[in-house]
Amino acid sequence: MASCIKEVHIRCRMESYTLGQGILIPVKNLFTLKTYQKLLKRKLKQMPSFGNRSLEALETVDIRISKVLHEAIKHYDFSVLEGHRDEETQNKYVETGASKLKFPYSKHNKYPSLAVDIVPYPVDWENLHRFKELSKVIKDACEVVGVDTLSWGYDLWKWDMPHWELER
Ligand SMILES: [Zn+2]
Repeated sequence: MASCIKEVHIRCRMESYTLGQGILIPVKNLFTLKTYQKLLKRKLKQMPSFGNRSLEALETVDIRISKVLHEAIKHYDFSVLEGHRDEETQNKYVETGASKLKFPYSKHNKYPSLAVDIVPYPVDWENLHRFKELSKVIKDACEVVGVDTLSWGYDLWKWDMPHWELER
């Protein structure tokens, strides 16, 4: 172990190292601090994170929704399309058939919003499988952060895959 002199060697097993929000570095063998830092950097790069547009939309939603989505993004990549929706936008959606509720009856019309629309990233509107995958991740995240009143549009009405809303 002559090469130990300059570098700190750490013996660690899988799951020994976690960083902040549960990032695991799967390392089984003896390795150097330098290698550990390299692995950590690579792992952080791989983790999905919200883009600016998603973050902006998140600022308009109820804190409970925000908590759930920040937990979920650690496990699955998706975009936040819309939180709060104003009167003009809501009524435009009714005209185009994108929504069935006139202002102010959609939960998107509350401020902060009690509803949010999200899509798997990159989005493929035809791929129901990925929407279903995402819904499982969201439901797990609800359990982790202790929110039990968030429902999926598809469970509620058998359409509206991007939509999630709080009971109240
Ligand atoms: Zn919606």
